[in-house]
Amino acid sequence: VPDSADAVLEGLDPEQREVATALRGPVCVLAGAGTGKTRAITHRIAYGVRAGILQPSSVLAVTFTNRAAGEMRGRLRQLGAAGVQARTFHSAALRQLQYFWPKAVGGSLPRLVDRKIQLVADAAAACRIRLDRGELRDATAEIEWSKVTQTVPADYALAAAKAGREAPRDPAEIAQLYSAYEDLKRGRGVIDFEDVLLLTVAVLQDRHDVAEQVRAQYQHFVVDEYQDVSPLQQRLLELWLGDRDDLCVVGDASQTIYSFTGATPDHLLDFRGRHPGATVVKLVRDYRSTPQVVHLANGLLAQARGRAADHRLELVSQRPAGPEPVYTEYSDEPAEAEGAARRIRELIDSGVSAAEIAVLFRTNSQSETYEQALADAGVPYQLRGAERFFDRPEVRKAGSSLRAAARFGGNDSLLDDAVDLPSQVRAVLSGEGWTTQPPAGSGAVRERWESLAALVSLAQDFAAARAGATLSDLVAELDERAGAQHAPTVQGVTLASLHSAKGLEWDVVFLVGVAEGMMPITYAKTDEQIEEERRLLYVGVTRARERLHLSWALARSPGGRPSRRPSRFLKGLRPGSGTAGGRTAAGGPGGVERGFGRGGAAPAVPRRTQRTPARCRVCGRTLTEAGEMKLMRCEDCPSDMDEGVYERLREWRAVQ
Ligand code: ATP
Ligand code: MG
Repeated sequence: VPDSADAVLEGLDPEQREVATALRGPVCVLAGAGTGKTRAITHRIAYGVRAGILQPSSVLAVTFTNRAAGEMRGRLRQLGAAGVQARTFHSAALRQLQYFWPKAVGGSLPRLVDRKIQLVADAAAACRIRLDRGELRDATAEIEWSKVTQTVPADYALAAAKAGREAPRDPAEIAQLYSAYEDLKRGRGVIDFEDVLLLTVAVLQDRHDVAEQVRAQYQHFVVDEYQDVSPLQQRLLELWLGDRDDLCVVGDASQTIYSFTGATPDHLLDFRGRHPGATVVKLVRDYRSTPQVVHLANGLLAQARGRAADHRLELVSQRPAGPEPVYTEYSDEPAEAEGAARRIRELIDSGVSAAEIAVLFRTNSQSETYEQALADAGVPYQLRGAERFFDRPEVRKAGSSLRAAARFGGNDSLLDDAVDLPSQVRAVLSGEGWTTQPPAGSGAVRERWESLAALVSLAQDFAAARAGATLSDLVAELDERAGAQHAPTVQGVTLASLHSAKGLEWDVVFLVGVAEGMMPITYAKTDEQIEEERRLLYVGVTRARERLHLSWALARSPGGRPSRRPSRFLKGLRPGSGTAGGRTAAGGPGGVERGFGRGGAAPAVPRRTQRTPARCRVCGRTLTEAGEMKLMRCEDCPSDMDEGVYERLREWRAVQ
């Protein structure tokens, strides 16, 4: 514990000190990733408390996740400032609501609904709208979005069109469903997650006595990750403040990644407009990442477009040089996962702590392949912010259908027609409405499809590895894998989606699936959606302190036809991908390593780039070996492809 208030300021740079000591009036900190925003506000609170300027109980610090809130409370305690409320908007509101409900409304606060999706399903049934499970989840997301943007059912269609929402149904039907859902919820006397904020807003608006009491309690507000507040959260913050302005917000518009749920960086970017006297502090020193990682992050920022990008701040690394980011291309996704797992195993064997390593991906459906690869490599891991693959409802349901089919399959003509194991699995899953082609559209429907597609490719791998394997063998294998994954792990490698990695950092980060169709995700279509995908990649890159591995796979499954190429966001940044000044990393041709599949050979040997390079006619990579140049094909590319495929690959390369 620092022995004085001034000692709390040690270890802050001049701009961070300004944030920490400007305790009155509105303060806005605009700064990039890793510049110490969270640290600056934590020290600000601690300094204020230690200097006797702030009462711990009068401070409310708002963070994005409960975990971040817990970390901040822990840090404050270490700095000698215990007793400060650090909470999410939601948990702060819930607490206040529970306290004031009996007085403001009477009785006790209604129970929080525990199975919201079921309530939406009941509402759909009540208004005779038939929705499958995926549509149900998408419709639920639309209702949630409406509520956080304070859109009433009557305005839904217009607002959704304006925001470019992709509703699973006709907007008029969604509006009808939304309205029926609200009625049903009221009828059953329950409230949902969004209601907690809406009701708090309503109580504070209507009951001046309650509002005054809350304002007397909290006089000083700090909000982290302010670029991702929703209009509803902003409204709540304004009500907490009343006509006061002892508010400090920190954020990075370039890290806005929740606009699909209704969040907007406008509150951050318009802060000075709303608070004309505000102190605005910019932090540019990046304390988290090496110059190599920061160089890539800056490169991504430079290519960004749109309002958030107009406010980008170039980062300047304060750390000593580290290794260049490593780019690796794999033939298929299992090979990519195995490649990452093998490198992680090596890192752990060389003394890196598993807790200092993360694997970050775009969609939760990618996690299974990585969970499996890490388990195979004997690496402990933990999942963040995602359901474990075998815990997902669709996977559990598919598992029980497969089990039933394995038991009674002989009598099922469906299965008799399917001659091999993967086809049998497909046949069983198609009984659940699964199709071989991915559904159009986005969100839950797509995610559910991806989960089941992951099961099919798991079956393919299993059948390839074990000739003559039956459905019963597969079911036994699934059970075993599910059991292994359920084993609780402590201190393991973190597996997380990019969305849930916000604000966190690790020494080593593996960013996987950096491919077209993943980043950006296929359903990102509008310019704004594409920009949000680019920001997600920026968030991912800036989680790394030391080492960053980026990888992608050309095909989904082993032996599958190449259908993917590296993400467009890497263009000009990845060595050998264009002219915009990418650095050359050690590794294979053009700095990109080739990954190897199962039982593969040693990693690629660095090769020198020549002046007028000969290129592989399959993948377009520079050739340096005499034998390869004779064939005009690099040793990693298969020869048995027809010219049409070569042509397509060359086109892809040209685009890249
Ligand atoms: P993000 O945008 O990802 O949330 P941030 O701006 O909140 O990042 P922090 O998490 O506060 O950044 O800080 C990043 C890292 O840099 C942390 O490990 C932090 O301890 C360290 N750091 C911040 N400021 C300093 C400083 N002045 N001296 C040394 N280390 C610092
Ligand atoms: Mg932070």
